[in-house]
Amino acid sequence: MLIETFTVGMLSTNCYVVNCHDTKEALVIDPGLDFSSEAKPIFDYIDEAKLTVKFIVNTHGHSDHVKADALFQEKYDVPLCIHPGDAHFIEGLEKGRFPANVMLRDGDSVKFGNESLQVMHTPGHTPGSISLVGEKLVFTGDTLFAGGIGRTDFPGGSDSAMRLSLQKLVRLPDYFLVYPGHGETSMMGEEKRVNPFLNNKSEDLFF
Ligand SMILES: [Zn+2]
Ligand SMILES: [Zn+2]
Repeated sequence: MLIETFTVGMLSTNCYVVNCHDTKEALVIDPGLDFSSEAKPIFDYIDEAKLTVKFIVNTHGHSDHVKADALFQEKYDVPLCIHPGDAHFIEGLEKGRFPANVMLRDGDSVKFGNESLQVMHTPGHTPGSISLVGEKLVFTGDTLFAGGIGRTDFPGGSDSAMRLSLQKLVRLPDYFLVYPGHGETSMMGEEKRVNPFLNNKSEDLFF
């Protein structure tokens, strides 16, 4: 599985293009661009690497992750996938947008070429936040960041749901790479060691 990271938008969202090395089939995760000009390097990368985009996947429905869904759907004519708990975010955006095509639920797999990512429902930041779990890596959206976690004080956020979601994520092995929705890539072992929300050192919110 090859992963290319594009940091886009005013909130520096990580948009990931993930592809199967053997077949060149690919996913675009969280195209939250603020300006259409930001799409060009991503489109160029996909062209130059000769990738076939199969799905657009949103880790959750916040606009900094979904803003360019329609642009990518128009370009690649592929399904848009999101958890049903967050589908309303997309449908509530400006008129003329496409609704989500594929509802991703806990345990579902998103397949591209010989690769797949399994959906782990990790609500708390939003009701329909998901993490995408591969063999040795996880895309955590705005649930888990390097050294932190996503806010739970937006509408639909929940501290108790976040606590349970983090308990699910910490069961992943230490060698797993963590690809968050914002900021640096990390390792699960490192997060268990230093992230105050995962190692019982945070006084507010958890444990
Ligand atoms: Zn968010
Ligand atoms: Zn975000």
